[in-house]
Amino acid sequence: MAYARFSRDSDVYVYEDIRGGFVCERCPGVGQEFRCATAAEMATHLRQHQAKGDLVPDDAIVELESEPSS
Ligand SMILES: [Zn+2]
Repeated sequence: MAYARFSRDSDVYVYEDIRGGFVCERCPGVGQEFRCATAAEMATHLRQHQAKGDLVPDDAIVELESEPSS
């Protein structure tokens, strides 16, 4: 499922990979996908995007942070 999609309000496209882990597609500033294992790591990654001025929907971060960590 996608947490955020490219749109007027989002510079990022983030989803949970069916093979496991989380993906920031065409990560802005990196130019290729960014992958991490946990929702918490992706939430941190998205906060770093916000810190750089990239548009990230707050609810995407809230949703990731509310995922059970395993
Ligand atoms: Zn990214």
